Amino acid sequence: MNITRIRPLPRRDGTTPALPSTRAAVMSLRPDIPMLCLRPAKACREAARFVAAFPGHVLYAVKCNPDEAVLRALAAGGIRHFDAASISEVRLVRRLFPDAHIHFMHPVKARSAIREAYAQHGVRDFVLDSPEELAKIVEETGHARDLRLMVRMALAKGEARLDLSGKFGAPAQTTVALLRDCAAVAKTGLAFHVGSQCCDPTAWERALAQADTIIRTAGIDLDVLDVGGGFPVSYPDMRPPPLGAFMAAIRRGVARMALPAGCTLWCEPGRALVAACQSLVVQVQGRRGDMLFINDGVYGTLSDAGALGFCYPCRLIKAAGASHGALHPFGFYGPTCDSLDRMEGPFPLPDDIAEGDWIEIGQMGAYGACLRTEFNGFDHILRVEVGEPATGHAMEHKTTDHRAA
Ligand SMILES: *Cc1c(COP(=O)(O)O)cnc(C)c1O
Repeated sequence: MNITRIRPLPRRDGTTPALPSTRAAVMSLRPDIPMLCLRPAKACREAARFVAAFPGHVLYAVKCNPDEAVLRALAAGGIRHFDAASISEVRLVRRLFPDAHIHFMHPVKARSAIREAYAQHGVRDFVLDSPEELAKIVEETGHARDLRLMVRMALAKGEARLDLSGKFGAPAQTTVALLRDCAAVAKTGLAFHVGSQCCDPTAWERALAQADTIIRTAGIDLDVLDVGGGFPVSYPDMRPPPLGAFMAAIRRGVARMALPAGCTLWCEPGRALVAACQSLVVQVQGRRGDMLFINDGVYGTLSDAGALGFCYPCRLIKAAGASHGALHPFGFYGPTCDSLDRMEGPFPLPDDIAEGDWIEIGQMGAYGACLRTEFNGFDHILRVEVGEPATGHAMEHKTTDHRAA
């Protein structure tokens, strides 16, 4: 992918200048290609908050945002464990953090990936959801005696925005058999994933009740219970309960179980740690009624705004003059020639928005830039680091935000 990273120039005395605001970055660069605005301090704070709230190890799900600056910011916030799903993610984390714990949490892995992760990167934790994968891991690690094998159990389809139960996870009976087989050769854990952007804390309580039955039936000494990811963030059309409600539900669910004294809890958040640390600035290149043609779309950073219909918070950055428009619901067309490159929103923006204006789209740190493609030649993107806004939520609409500085 074609990313131009723009760093603040060091001052003459060698000190680094304060990071610019998004508006200042837009006004100096006047970008006509999409511009990612990264707030490393925000990622660091969210990581610290999550690590403090969760009663166990917090594994960051690397796929959600593998940007090196984001990974470093999360590590600065206290993340020491990483959930990797491919050998490239394993290599990336190992290169950046020689001492980090890497957990290979994809239930169906390439044999070469298992071999390399074990032999070259010190990975000892592998997830599986089938007897075939168990055999593969045992073979490719040379019957290693120092493994921790995690069995992923299936959950019934829940309330999450993105259901993940269809593809991975063993049914209850298979999970019981796999736990016993794993316990015969390794330390053993149980994992589940309630689905991404799951706004219902009781989903974890129900999953934990299901896990409890399975663990009792298997009759094994469980080393790790992994409650997965899926912790939600706020979008304009979705205001989930605060993080504390999810932590309380997990504590309640765990308290009802009879876990062995030494059993450790893990979780695997992606979205919750990084959604807020990145925004995206797009430019309006044409307007047709309520539809704005913008320079990024579903084949670029805005994949989830397409078929999945995610609404993101938006604010106008006028190219010239001040905006006096009232908010109006707009939809977006992306830059490619494909008619699927369309985002319904609604994205409320001042009704005097015009060609040449910019829109800052918030909550773009999760499943944004990492899903970009090169389709139709719209592959180039700028990336800047920006300072955090002084107050409140970066993207809540405030009338003053629409005035040109
Ligand atoms: C994607 C994924 C995660 C992260 O999910 P979020 O919804 O971003 O928290 C965690 N674990 C597994 C196994 C995943 O596939």
